[in-house]
Amino acid sequence: MEKHQLIQRFSADQLQQRVRELADEIRTDYRNRQLVVIGILKGAFIFLADLIRHLNIPSEVDFIRLASYGSLTESSGSIRVTKDIELPIAGKHVLVVEDIVDSGITMAWLLDHLRGKNPESVKTCVCIDKCERREKSVAADYIGFRVTQGFLVGYGLDWSEQYRYLPDIYEVKFL
Ligand code: 5GP
Ligand code: MG
Repeated sequence: MEKHQLIQRFSADQLQQRVRELADEIRTDYRNRQLVVIGILKGAFIFLADLIRHLNIPSEVDFIRLASYGSLTESSGSIRVTKDIELPIAGKHVLVVEDIVDSGITMAWLLDHLRGKNPESVKTCVCIDKCERREKSVAADYIGFRVTQGFLVGYGLDWSEQYRYLPDIYEVKFL
């Protein structure tokens, strides 16, 4: 691994506080609705776990895993599903939970994919909205934090499978 340093961007306390606020908003919006929460593997697993516990309303949970061809620094836009959702979502209200939206290519593709399954509605909740490389205009409905740039790790986010376990979010600074 290249020599690097981790600089804290969001503390565990800040994350918990913000997730609680998002959950309060979402709970109000989905009152008396059949909600299916869909997490995008792997990055969103910790954010989703915190979110549904703060939400504390009856909801179903499923996961999807996508692979995108292209380099790490450049989304090619060619995406495929390596693990699809398993629950039926036709006629249900879907909330997609994602770790980071960057170019927007992954999210735009996923929304098309899910809409093909005829849900009643689809909304998105992202922990971090990073507008550095936005190409597809996807406006997330619920946003934890906005950042302009930087490669982030921790709280589920990895760098070559490292650092997902960290309770805080850090920016990787290359030395
Ligand atoms: P997009 O298609 O929006 O460019 O890609 C979003 C995906 O790229 C996210 O789901 C995430 O997996 C990955 N990604 C984008 N920015 C970062 C980052 O700063 N740190 C990490 N660990 N992953 C990122
Ligand atoms: Mg991801």
